[in-house]
Amino acid sequence: MAASVITVPPGTVEQDLPALLGEPARALRRGALVAFPTETVYGLGADALDPAAVERIFHAKGRPADNPLIVHLPDAAWLGRVVAHVTPLARRLAERWWPGPLTLVLDAADVVPRVTTGGLSTVAVRVPANPLARTLIAVAGTPVAAPSANLSGRPSPTTAAHVQADLGGRIDWILDGGPCPVGIESTVVDARGDAPVVLREGTVTREDLGVDVTAESGSPLSPGTRFAHYQPSARVVVASAGQGGDVAAEIAERQTTGLIGPTLPGLDPRVSVLASPLGAAELATVLYDALRQADVRGLDVVVVEAVPSHGLGRAVMDRVRRAAGGGGVVPTG
Ligand code: AMP
Ligand code: MG
Repeated sequence: MAASVITVPPGTVEQDLPALLGEPARALRRGALVAFPTETVYGLGADALDPAAVERIFHAKGRPADNPLIVHLPDAAWLGRVVAHVTPLARRLAERWWPGPLTLVLDAADVVPRVTTGGLSTVAVRVPANPLARTLIAVAGTPVAAPSANLSGRPSPTTAAHVQADLGGRIDWILDGGPCPVGIESTVVDARGDAPVVLREGTVTREDLGVDVTAESGSPLSPGTRFAHYQPSARVVVASAGQGGDVAAEIAERQTTGLIGPTLPGLDPRVSVLASPLGAAELATVLYDALRQADVRGLDVVVVEAVPSHGLGRAVMDRVRRAAGGGGVVPTG
């Protein structure tokens, strides 16, 4: 089975989207798997309230059954459809950050099947910023569970081509809305109490939320952080700031090596430059594509130059360290 593809050209006006997306939206409603762009990464969507459809997501990705999914809504007015109790904190955060890359964990309504929540009594929800994503969900008329649209353990997809490479033969539809501007996954926050508890860092930073700590990696509160993530076949090495070129040159004496980091004149010509981001936001945008490029080029090693570990930099460096094999303790296979 090859996925059907719809390409939505940049600049398409929002009023034209419902007609363009009618077919995949109806398919979604009947249990199909539809990959779609969000501002963070591409998601692999299924009807969040249909256990058989959600089961297919886990099967297509090879995702461990106890790694819960994020449920996507077209607007905050849908919260009551999937959440048992909307706390005042959740209302405040939703008003401030939605649509946008912030996911809220709340007590789940009874209609949400346990396969969607990885067996938990809570559910993670967000309203994505991409109008294509919101229109697809609104026209389907059902909340959409959507993890990143990659094979489990691999770098998340930030283009439709990445989705095609990993899942093209396993899913029904791919909506191509161009590259994702943010490039890393949403911030996940437990919003059940009086103050937010950060479970996974992202573009909405701890500083933005006025929070000092993140739940420990592997904590039962944050099931996804137990698993290996974002790993290409190439070995990933993290170099300190300013050292990327030198570290890559040294490794390039023995192995084929790529670099993700600022490039200076005089870089060893044996090093393949995969991306030259300047700063944390640019690194977030290009990271997963560059890691995948390393595999396309068959490189042995990819060196990623670190960015300062605060704000968005901390969220990006979390992804980089996981890509390098740190942090995740259980390989997903
Ligand atoms: P992904 O969609 O692959 O980016 O992963 C979803 C992330 O959301 C994982 O890190 C999960 O741990 C987290 N998540 C989803 N549902 C819940 C929940 N009910 N409680 C805590 N974390 C959740
Ligand atoms: Mg993922």
